[in-house]
Amino acid sequence: MESATDKVGPFTELAQQYGPAVLDTLSANVPRDLRWNYLLLMLALALMIFLLRKGRGAKGADGRERPCGLAEYLLPRDIYMHVSARVDVWLCVFERALKPVWALLLLGSLGPYVERSVIGAMTAGFGAGPAIEPNLAWFFLFSAVLLLSYDFTFFVLHYAEHKIPALWAIHKVHHSAEVLTPLTRYREHVLEGPLYSATAAIGYAVPTAIFAWLFAGSLKAVTALDVGIFTLLFGFNGAFRHYHVQFRYPRWLEKWLQSPAMHHTHHSYLPQHWDTNMAVLTSIWDRMFGTLYIPEPDEYTPWGLRPDQQVDCRSFRQNLAAPFRDWHRMIREIMTAGTRPTGAGPSA
Ligand SMILES: [Zn+2]
Ligand SMILES: [Zn+2]
Repeated sequence: MESATDKVGPFTELAQQYGPAVLDTLSANVPRDLRWNYLLLMLALALMIFLLRKGRGAKGADGRERPCGLAEYLLPRDIYMHVSARVDVWLCVFERALKPVWALLLLGSLGPYVERSVIGAMTAGFGAGPAIEPNLAWFFLFSAVLLLSYDFTFFVLHYAEHKIPALWAIHKVHHSAEVLTPLTRYREHVLEGPLYSATAAIGYAVPTAIFAWLFAGSLKAVTALDVGIFTLLFGFNGAFRHYHVQFRYPRWLEKWLQSPAMHHTHHSYLPQHWDTNMAVLTSIWDRMFGTLYIPEPDEYTPWGLRPDQQVDCRSFRQNLAAPFRDWHRMIREIMTAGTRPTGAGPSA
């Protein structure tokens, strides 16, 4: 006979039925650089820097390098108790919740559309492709081109976000972070997700189309994207570039690859740091367009917006309202003065 404690209602039944699927979906949606293996790698490297630099190399909430003990070095109170770190959590939750929507709408539709169009244009212009049988070297080249292409399209969008006032109104939410934590990477306004997804769709679909035309048979983009070294660079660079411990590469290498510490200057509101180091992975595009900035050792990088702008972009609600407030002000300016709005970049 069924006892009272065995009896379950419809909500419990539903939870039992769909709970594991929801958990699977949530865990699949944790970004690579926030998974335990990448976070452990980041902490291990930070520990190495602590030992090599004898307790130096970490920055405080004010963006100044200072010596400290190991616990404070890895998880400083002034950073993780900061209101900015709390806002990071909420913006990250929204970013993750909406990511599948943008991926579905843009990666799933714009990506294939661009890919089909490019293959169609190449076939019309040059006939059927040479049907190359891809070997390991070809796959390596394909992966490198894929990453360079994504890095470039991201650079273009990021550059536009810094220079065009209407886009800066959205992107400034990322820059309103007054301290850097690994979650800051996902601190973005809800309207920025579609921009990034569209950029990724174009950045990946153009090279995949070209290589699909070149190669015989089908091309598994995912297999190529999983080439170890690139995956490692992407995942690890993502978490470390928004971490307060400075991880530098030798100067010659920083001219080619963005070291995580180079992103510290991107988040600084000092005039010499405005609009610098815009790419994700390489320094190539920043060098070509004159936005590369290799900081001095322990360079002071006060993070956030200029103090007079920061007051309007501190809480979660203020950050959510920021673009609408700015757009409203720009429209009012245009209507009243008949002038173009000003206000792009941290300089505004
Ligand atoms: Zn930026
Ligand atoms: Zn950033």
